[in-house]
Amino acid sequence: MLSAASPARVRHVSGPQAPVAGDYVLYWMQIYRRLAHNHALDYALRWAVGLKKPLVVYEGLKLGYPWASRRLHRFILEGMQTNAGQAREIGLNYWPFVETPEQSGRGLLRRLAARACLVVTDDFPCFIIPDQTAALARQTPTPVVAIDSNGVVPLSLLGPPATAAAHLRPRIHRAFAAAWSERAVAEPVFPRPVRRTVEPPFPLWDPGQDLTTFIDGLPIDPGVRPVATTPGGSRAARRRLAEFVSRKLPGYAEGRSHPLPPEQGHASGLSPYLHFGHISIEEVVATVLASVGWSPQQLDERCVGRREGFWSANADVNAFLDEAIVWRDLGFHWHWHRRSDTTSLERALPAWAWTTLRKHAADPRDYCYRLEQWEAAETHDPLWNAAQIELVHAGTIHNYLRMLWGKKVIEWSATPEEAYRILEHLNNKYALDGRNPNSYTGILWCFGLFDRPWAPERKVFGTVRYMSSENTARKFRLEAYLAYVRSLADRPAATG
Ligand SMILES: Cc1cc2nc3c(=O)[nH]c(=O)nc-3n(C[C@H](O)[C@H](O)[C@H](O)COP(=O)(O)OP(=O)(O)OC[C@H]3O[C@@H](n4cnc5c(N)ncnc54)[C@H](O)[C@@H]3O)c2cc1C
Repeated sequence: MLSAASPARVRHVSGPQAPVAGDYVLYWMQIYRRLAHNHALDYALRWAVGLKKPLVVYEGLKLGYPWASRRLHRFILEGMQTNAGQAREIGLNYWPFVETPEQSGRGLLRRLAARACLVVTDDFPCFIIPDQTAALARQTPTPVVAIDSNGVVPLSLLGPPATAAAHLRPRIHRAFAAAWSERAVAEPVFPRPVRRTVEPPFPLWDPGQDLTTFIDGLPIDPGVRPVATTPGGSRAARRRLAEFVSRKLPGYAEGRSHPLPPEQGHASGLSPYLHFGHISIEEVVATVLASVGWSPQQLDERCVGRREGFWSANADVNAFLDEAIVWRDLGFHWHWHRRSDTTSLERALPAWAWTTLRKHAADPRDYCYRLEQWEAAETHDPLWNAAQIELVHAGTIHNYLRMLWGKKVIEWSATPEEAYRILEHLNNKYALDGRNPNSYTGILWCFGLFDRPWAPERKVFGTVRYMSSENTARKFRLEAYLAYVRSLADRPAATG
């Protein structure tokens, strides 16, 4: 089956040009690194079939991306190993490239684009992706088209930027049924002409080699170690999804906020896989809905705009979809419109939050830590330190504690701006799901984005919502979580 990507997902980066003469259609897989459930792949495949040209899938990994580390490299490379295996089975032209000191990636993409009829890529509204896409479009006469595979509903259909989840929720609910009927193809079929072999103009990366040895030889941050319990790739992502649906989804609505070790808690742990595109949000949603025998007739129009009840009468399914669709899309949609504002707290925050934080910017802090102290989890607060140790060793922080983690950096940093820089750095350096729209909007939420003023007015925070470690400790039984974090700190780190 061939899908016609919804026009709402298509952005002609170099203007509305027809494909040019060339050897192949190129899919430049930048962030949605998978060979199924992928709107950009569907779009490229459709053009390849129409033009009777081979399809080439190029997946690259450079050395110099911001916060490059063994952790991120390993996760991405494990995904590339899976993709290479699947492409081999299909007989697809899959060209993996991994930059090394000996083999630079400089100008490579421009050369690949020069031979293509059309370049298709992912329209991800964050990190280095938009600039990379724009740079290629400037440098090549070949048309470049970016496809929005970010969410179930195309971002361009969601209207102007929303100031709260409550504003975006009804828009998503209203657009959901139509978007659901236009999902990406679950198992794309690649007809023979599209699979005609094209010789790559560079030596392909060898996915069969030992990853530890390979990564150890690269000049990237050796301090951020891979996370053995979270291997990359579409197969690992599906295992995690299956595990979530069978064991953790029942009880999600109540249990999501309770900080527990991953194997005991209810959070899915899917965000790294969603971030690197090893699994599609559409596949996640479809699997969760299938687990309760769902059909679109179960959408409850009476609940449009409400947190509960719209997708399913099952409270756990509904709660999960509110996070995975509404909250996740809130960050993506905000970036779609306001990505450049992430460089300045003043521009990013609502006026009330910026004003109140400025008013209290000079308030004396009870504690004031430097980046090295934050990074080494050397604060006076055992719960904050535990969250940071989890981040450093496991590449994640439990849902609820992530909010507390952000709030405390604001409370104990010299200024809001410094706190923002520290949070961006720590989150993007250590979190497997960092460098994502929800990294920035999650952090900015701690400063008041998507929130409202809260009384009483306090020092440092003003009327921005405050969270306390003591209340968190009173609210939850934390022994199991703290024991888990201690075990992480004691565990020998995974190798490169
Ligand atoms: C300070 C701070 C930093 C954050 N940084 C990131 C980040 O770098 N990357 C990231 O993906 N999310 C981030 N979040 C949002 C949220 O904490 C994570 O998405 C969630 O913890 C991921 O765990 P999970 O996959 O087990 O979530 P689940 O509870 O299993 O939820 C399923 C999916 O829904 C989405 N989701 C869940 N909660 C949220 C939320 N509050 N906002 C947006 N989407 C959500 C995620 O895609 C998640 O994978 C941050 C939040 C805060 C407060």
